[in-house]
Amino acid sequence: MQQSRRISTLNGDGDDGWGVFMAARKMIDEGIPVTELTIGEHDIRTDPTILAAMDASARAGNTGYAMVPGIDALRDHVAARVQAASGVATTRDNVIITPGGQAGLFMAHHATCDEGDRALFIDPYYATYPGTIRSVGAIPVPVAARSRDGFQPRADAIADATPGAKTLLINSPNNPTGAIYAPETMAGIAGVVRDHDLWLISDEVYDTQVWEGHHISPRSLPGMEERTLQIGSLSKSHAMTGSRCGWIVAPEEVTGNLIQLATNTNYGVAGFVQSAGLFALEQGPAFEERIAAPFRRRRQIVLDLVEGQQVVRAIPAQGAMYTMLDLRATGMSGEDFAYALLDKHRIAVMPGESFGKAAAGHVRVALTVDDDRLRTAVATLLSFAAELAEQAAK
Ligand code: PLP
Repeated sequence: MQQSRRISTLNGDGDDGWGVFMAARKMIDEGIPVTELTIGEHDIRTDPTILAAMDASARAGNTGYAMVPGIDALRDHVAARVQAASGVATTRDNVIITPGGQAGLFMAHHATCDEGDRALFIDPYYATYPGTIRSVGAIPVPVAARSRDGFQPRADAIADATPGAKTLLINSPNNPTGAIYAPETMAGIAGVVRDHDLWLISDEVYDTQVWEGHHISPRSLPGMEERTLQIGSLSKSHAMTGSRCGWIVAPEEVTGNLIQLATNTNYGVAGFVQSAGLFALEQGPAFEERIAAPFRRRRQIVLDLVEGQQVVRAIPAQGAMYTMLDLRATGMSGEDFAYALLDKHRIAVMPGESFGKAAAGHVRVALTVDDDRLRTAVATLLSFAAELAEQAAK
């Protein structure tokens, strides 16, 4: 039977970018120890106090259908949080609770793109972006941000891609590059979005992981509130990846339609998960800093190791739980290097190519194992790169 064109072409022509990760998982299943520095999964589990709140809520009877837009108390809390961070008046009517940020990305594109519309996004990008855009029938159009610009996107490059475009998807703090968009970058993006009458979909799931500078939410910029759909999530900020709890903040008329979409697709988020999410947010900034602290520390470990050699260049992450390493001096692609590193040293990193053309010749190291293990793995990666560069020079 013929399945829909939409689902059979979800990954486009290429692979889905997860090859090294899948190969590492297969080795682990076969009993081969691998240091996994691949996905954005914390090395701690959800805090026991959050689990207790989830358990208490479920036992109190919150196991039936929850309100599709989200429970009022959580929507209110998210609205107050976003308002405090951005200065933009926000109420529960601007908020819909979603099954994680990923569902938010899908729903936001569904709400703004029609079949055949061009949907822009910045390359390097989080691996699901093109598939998410295709899943709503739109055409993914990458706009390159360059390694030599610290992966800050240029407004003129975005403007060049606007003919026929409906949306622009940005992600700051950025996965995979760690870039936090500077005030002038954000102002440039907002200018293009306004001038070309685009919707801006702003993926801010790493907004609690800021190591340098500060995060600007573009919804706070002039004229942007009415055209911005802001995506948030508890996955990264509260180590709740498996709970699937996130949100979209959008103009009221958009959230109205998103609620219709949720009613006809996921039917919202489990009530006991939302209670746990509310409890988590109520713990405040100190709790969030505690979750973020290991990544701040480990980022410095990687930068110190890179500092001691000449072959690999680090693009210092300003935020998020990853560091990008530029390996072009080895003469290898990021993908060939990542497979060779896995094969020879049992260390798994993500090839830059998994995140688009603009990250070719790079690898992304997730800072998601304990400090000593990370130190050993990165030191091994660096000496392997030095060996390969020496061979390439012969
Ligand atoms: N956006 C970015 C940039 C991500 O890195 C991720 C997960 O890694 C997500 C969205 C999805 O997060 P979740 O669906 O767990 O909230």
